[in-house]
Amino acid sequence: MSLNCDIVKDLVALYHDGVASEASESAVETHLKECKSCRNYYKQYGNTQPASLKFDVNASGDYGELAKHMRIRRLWMLVSALAYVSASLCAFIMLFMRIRKK
Ligand SMILES: [Zn+2]
Repeated sequence: MSLNCDIVKDLVALYHDGVASEASESAVETHLKECKSCRNYYKQYGNTQPASLKFDVNASGDYGELAKHMRIRRLWMLVSALAYVSASLCAFIMLFMRIRKK
């Protein structure tokens, strides 16, 4: 084993996101093949990190976070627009029925 387990655990995050250097990547891979405890750690790490967090090397974490906020905001705008449209439709139908009754 060329690397210390603690070092591998630090590198696992970079390795998982695909941003580790080639040298670190191959060192981590070699270590993971040989060390069961680090392999388990890597599996656990992979399970706690959603796949959507894997973005390209040039994107920073802040950009991913911002994109997520914008998606949520767009969803809320869509939901409120739909609520507004259906509320006005209901009001219009009620008004129409009231006029017809007279
Ligand atoms: Zn290890």
